[in-house]
Amino acid sequence: MLTSPKKIAIFGAGAIGRRVNALIKFNNMELKALYYCDNNTKLHGKIIDSLPVISAHSLSEIYQQNEIDFVLIAVSNSYLKEISEQLVEYKINNVFITPHYYLSKNTCGISKSNIMLKIEANKPRLKYFEFHICDHCNMNCTGCGHFSNISKEYYADVDAYAKDLFRLKELFWGVERIRLMGGEPLIHDKLNEFIDITGEVFPDSLICIATNGILLNKMPPNLFDAVRGKNARFDISLYPPMYNKKDDLEILLDIYEVSYKISISNRFIATHSLDPINNNTSSYENCKSSQCHFLRNGHLSNCGIPQLIKTYYDYFGLGSDTISICSENKYNIYEESNGWELNEKLSKPIPMCSHCNIPGRDFAWNNTSKEMSDWIA
Ligand code: SF4
Ligand code: SF4
Repeated sequence: MLTSPKKIAIFGAGAIGRRVNALIKFNNMELKALYYCDNNTKLHGKIIDSLPVISAHSLSEIYQQNEIDFVLIAVSNSYLKEISEQLVEYKINNVFITPHYYLSKNTCGISKSNIMLKIEANKPRLKYFEFHICDHCNMNCTGCGHFSNISKEYYADVDAYAKDLFRLKELFWGVERIRLMGGEPLIHDKLNEFIDITGEVFPDSLICIATNGILLNKMPPNLFDAVRGKNARFDISLYPPMYNKKDDLEILLDIYEVSYKISISNRFIATHSLDPINNNTSSYENCKSSQCHFLRNGHLSNCGIPQLIKTYYDYFGLGSDTISICSENKYNIYEESNGWELNEKLSKPIPMCSHCNIPGRDFAWNNTSKEMSDWIA
């Protein structure tokens, strides 16, 4: 029996939206786009691919009048948060997105389920979080930002991580980018399981595995399978001892057909102040890490420092009362009532910021004999 195609509006009249519309037509997906919607006012009233381009306000009216069945947001990953939240304001609640990794794939054989992911449009999106697969590392970089060269051995537990992910999914419809890191995450022999569960719970996310690359050529195929299978990416920071391995790593990663980004890294920044400096707001406002939210044991914090600084104070015997490692520096995700409020909290300075002397002291990478001063601005 023939069914009439669902009527949709595509949010995004740029190259991505047009490509998605072409995929819908080319693959005969029983969808009919009636409009493009876009926030670029210069496009309003224009006709693109025989479709009128309308504003978000007009989209809201058309949706309330049941002219369309749902909205498909087809924009780059970094705009999905803002646009999905805009649609909440307009009370448009039947919303799908096109996951970022289908925007660059071949058109043949792509299906409706590939190109459309339904979102819980009453929830916000979380921009970013990072998670330590291990605390410790196989390098010894002076002033390591996450104290990994002075950390005890610590391996994250997959089940506990999965529980936290499911809780986050109750608060947020998605996460723009998730960074699995350390320490050195390739030390953990279950890294593939962390990648799999992350991709299952948050299929909208760009999942990045941050590594120094030393162990990559010793990894089993199942790790590369997980990275490829979940459209994840290796983010490789190459420090001076690894500079001459860049070509070999590229060949290896190309053979496994996985995505990767290689950064040549040589600069470090020390920002810590043992005594609080006066203004935590100015530190926060000038901080490049303020949106590097950190997940650990059911808690999210603005950045990794509040949940990792204890390593530094313990290692140098400074005593836990030297610094306020208090509950105000992190948020228990099981006690938060919704993601909107949590996003709001994560966008404000915390007491810990008063111990950051931003912009800090910049220095070249080197090995360290682990001095307390390594981290001091
Ligand atoms: S490789 Fe990265 S995690 Fe390891 S010690 Fe260096 S900066 Fe820290
Ligand atoms: S504690 Fe505050 S100022 Fe320091 S790195 Fe984190 S967000 Fe930035």
